[in-house]
Formats: sequence, structure tokens, C-alpha cells
Amino acid sequence: MKKEGMTCVSCGKIAKKAQLRFQGYDIDGWKCSCGEEYFDPEQAHRFLLVNKVLHKEYEVKLGQIRSNLILRIPAELANALKFEKGEKVLIKVDDMKRFHVEAVA
Ligand SMILES: [Zn+2]
Repeated sequence: MKKEGMTCVSCGKIAKKAQLRFQGYDIDGWKCSCGEEYFDPEQAHRFLLVNKVLHKEYEVKLGQIRSNLILRIPAELANALKFEKGEKVLIKVDDMKRFHVEAVA
């Protein structure tokens, strides 16, 4: 987190760095003694993106390069979960009809 404190818009006092809750996530932010809370804007934006794709389903068509099948990850999903070209991911088989992909780090 960047700033130690920020001026509270409601009362003018200095809101201090704090761990807050935002839509079910732990988030960095600032809390003022008057009760006002300010969320880290970058983290809040990320959580909103993730919330948008959470439990969503994407029907995609498999491609093929030689003997390997290619799965295209929709941009909206990749952006929200921060999957990027060149990044290594893990494919794990769940059962006869399912596998999932997860970030290595
Ligand atoms: Zn305040």
C-alpha cells in the first residue's frame, strides 16, 4: 500500500491504514476515527472484475495445433484473473469430464 494516511473527506481528520472488508474480500484501505472507510482503488477495481466473472460459464470451441487441442480463454476472464500470454499455468484433472486451469504462483 502506498499512503500511510489520507485526509478524510467527511471530517477532515487523517484516516489511518487499515485492513477492511469489501464485498467479501479482505482489502487494504484507510479507516477514519469518524467511521468512514476508504478502499484501495486498484484492489477494489480488481475485486469488482473478479465478481463479474465469478460463477460465470463460457462455452468455447476447442481448436487444434497438430496433436494438441487449443483452449481459448475469453479476454474478460483472463483480464479479471490476470492470466497473461506466456504465463505458466497448471492443468489439473478433476474427473472423467472435468479439468481446471490455475495460476502457478
Ligand atoms: Zn473522518
